[in-house]
Amino acid sequence: MAILSLTLPGRRAGIVSLKPGSTTLAVGADHVSAWDLAGRPLSLVRGESTWRRSLNGRLLCKRRERTAAGVSVLRVAVPEEAGREVLEAARLEAEEALEALRRDPAAAGDRYEEATARLARLAATGADFLASDAARFREIYRPIGILPPDQYLSRVVQATEGCSWNACTFCALYRDVPFRIKTHEEFAAHTASVREFLGPSLLLRRKVFFGDANALCAAPEQVLPLMEETARAFPVAPRELTGAARRAWLSVDPARAEGIYAFVDAWTGHRRVVETYRAYAELALRRVYVGLETGDPELLAWLNKPGSPDDAVELVHTLREAGVAAGVIVLLGAGGSRFGDRHVRGTSEVLTRMALGPRDLLYFSEFVPEPGLEYHRRADSPDLLPLPHGACAAQRAAILSSYRPADPSRPPTSSTYDIREWVG
Ligand code: SF4
Repeated sequence: MAILSLTLPGRRAGIVSLKPGSTTLAVGADHVSAWDLAGRPLSLVRGESTWRRSLNGRLLCKRRERTAAGVSVLRVAVPEEAGREVLEAARLEAEEALEALRRDPAAAGDRYEEATARLARLAATGADFLASDAARFREIYRPIGILPPDQYLSRVVQATEGCSWNACTFCALYRDVPFRIKTHEEFAAHTASVREFLGPSLLLRRKVFFGDANALCAAPEQVLPLMEETARAFPVAPRELTGAARRAWLSVDPARAEGIYAFVDAWTGHRRVVETYRAYAELALRRVYVGLETGDPELLAWLNKPGSPDDAVELVHTLREAGVAAGVIVLLGAGGSRFGDRHVRGTSEVLTRMALGPRDLLYFSEFVPEPGLEYHRRADSPDLLPLPHGACAAQRAAILSSYRPADPSRPPTSSTYDIREWVG
């Protein structure tokens, strides 16, 4: 990474960071913008506000607010049109940085050509470029309902669309998207379009997410050719390569990838045998995300999620035997106080039986009670109302303190999965 110090008009300090897959520009005390190598803005900081832009052109604006009750985070989804002003201001700063660099080439030393090319690209990403880029995204993709937080910067390919179940009472992510599996020809054209669309930003996006919500629920004879197609478009690093050897292998071609990742529901996923997951792993599958939600079978049934916690345990063991890591997602706050104790107790037990290790991830996702969810119709008693944030945090702490990973000295990484952070 190279860091350049520049002086912008008005004697404002400008710092440009040339990272392997992105460019960051800091101006003055509280303006920062990050861009991919195709010139798309990724995130902006403006004082107390942070903006994240998705490939579909929408922005999420976040701001910390201090109230008498403490600090809360205000999130506002900003449509493409409404975000133009803040994006244009960031583009103008990139233009100013480019002019400052041309006045002072020594600031970049032997990276001058690269730095001017990158800044020129950012300076050229005006509203017209961004609008046509987002329109192209919408031609290639159906809306991407959700991704696990560690996959936000993945190359998403949609082998399937929608969710095959689509009836959990707490989820409306795919409500209007009929489930279907793409034909091989259709999917090959889709992956080629994704590769061409991402272009230089492939360098930033080294993981491949095999979407949508439940792509691995399709029969193995349907999944395998689509996964082969994915690995053809984005060759995946052999598993035995690590550290510098892996980085050297990846650096040969921006299309090369670190691995393939996917969701599966426990009900369908546990029916697949080890050999099936092993075949996927040989092709490049590295981690599968499983919505456990709860270890309490009664709460799971009340939420209308198919299968049982035992299915999820069996699935995680099968994945491990096949050499595939797990990302297990726990839902906090659903089922209210009526299910609260059983949820904590059952989830701790089930997570312990999963024997999660350092390659696995453990996510905690707070239930977001959006209007129109079936959940609200069923929660016909005050003790079923979703728990507030503080009680969700207490559930999380109780689960974390009582479950046992396979090796307590090497637990899985546990983290927050806030669906409101996903911009689309
Ligand atoms: S929680 Fe998962 S399985 Fe349930 S409807 Fe939503 S996407 Fe489908």
